[in-house]
Amino acid sequence: MTIPEIKLIPSPDTEEAKAAAVHKWNKVAGTRHKLGGEPIGENVETPSCTMCKQPMTCYATIDSIGDDYDLGDCWVINVFVCMKCGTTSSQIDPAYV
Ligand SMILES: [Zn+2]
Repeated sequence: MTIPEIKLIPSPDTEEAKAAAVHKWNKVAGTRHKLGGEPIGENVETPSCTMCKQPMTCYATIDSIGDDYDLGDCWVINVFVCMKCGTTSSQIDPAYV
């Protein structure tokens, strides 16, 4: 199952939070937060549920936050859920687009 992609736009509300969200060297990083859609990353394989072995669904993708909190080299976290039993899984994935 693929959930229609819903883009998420960060909304930092303090100067500290605004500064934390800055990527000085990568203009794509920080713009890839979303719900649903296909997972983002190089060679991402959608996992099977560890409990019931059903294919899992990409529920969200969380982008690197900013240079000070960067994951790897502007990588993302893909969050998967089993729509049958509710088991969740996440993985950090290299992503260059
Ligand atoms: Zn399951």
